[in-house]
Amino acid sequence: MSNTLTPWLAEDWQRLLARREAGRLPHALLIGGARGLGKRLFAEHLRALLLCERPTASGTPCGSCKACHLMRAGNHPDALTITFELRDDGKPRTEITVDQIRALSARFAQTSQRGGWRVAIIEPAEAMNVAAANALLKTLEEPEPNVMMILVSDQWLRLSATIRSRCQRIDVREPEPAQSLAWLIAQGIAAKDAEPALALADGNPGEALVLARPEQRQIVNEVARDLGALAGKAVLIEVVSRWLANDPGLRLRAAVQLVAQAIRRASLGAESDADGLSGLTARADFRKLSAWWDQANRARGQLDTPLRSDLILTEILGGWRDTVAASTNAGA
Ligand SMILES: [Zn+2]
Repeated sequence: MSNTLTPWLAEDWQRLLARREAGRLPHALLIGGARGLGKRLFAEHLRALLLCERPTASGTPCGSCKACHLMRAGNHPDALTITFELRDDGKPRTEITVDQIRALSARFAQTSQRGGWRVAIIEPAEAMNVAAANALLKTLEEPEPNVMMILVSDQWLRLSATIRSRCQRIDVREPEPAQSLAWLIAQGIAAKDAEPALALADGNPGEALVLARPEQRQIVNEVARDLGALAGKAVLIEVVSRWLANDPGLRLRAAVQLVAQAIRRASLGAESDADGLSGLTARADFRKLSAWWDQANRARGQLDTPLRSDLILTEILGGWRDTVAASTNAGA
């Protein structure tokens, strides 16, 4: 993603600028919404603006003051980031701990290093464990002056209601397709590739941008071919081992989206069926097909270990073969 603000967040940005003008900025913001919509970038923009010593009249950091230089180098002392730390064995933790939040509160209790705002980004905020969330709550209830905490979350409903109620919330939603397509094209994606990628990403432009890259497109094409081949002569374990060897998560996600698209096309009686999947889904038992789709969609979050991925992919792809191959035979 480029580092300019995404256009669908422009209104929220203007509202914040107006509050800043009026000296009424909140001390805590919760930016919530799906992955890929530019939440983190928005938080970083706001932090850079608050810390800049000579912001422009239109509300952008000047880019040339000492604070802006320090920000770019990643070592402004009043710009804090709370995210997953590394454990002693070098692997990232899977939660944000109470010690991290306590260290943050201690920093906020001291005076600002450069005499202005102190701004912390907490991401992913939903990863705070219970003790960490309770510690943050204390800080939120007794805010220091000129302190801003920006919580960024893909799953903000997992945050406690008390935390949520102490934050000003910005809900980031998928923009209209026309705006997403224009943005994708502005990111350098060819118009002919932008539309299918956006459909495959369920209308999420950031996810579509990932899916539109040539190497990802190739994987999506392979998945479509494999799904078609499994209805015929393809050998299940060969397909599973190929998927396991190269980005099984993306492949399963693509499979779920491709089948959803194929079902939609078939139900609309669309003529085009370039990958042949609409023909397969149109003949399948709809209840079995939707049960398969639910199962495959749920499994997307479960490909966490190689052994588990192997079992899950065998089950999902075997289930697909049974669903569409049976219908092919019945229809023959
Ligand atoms: Zn500046």
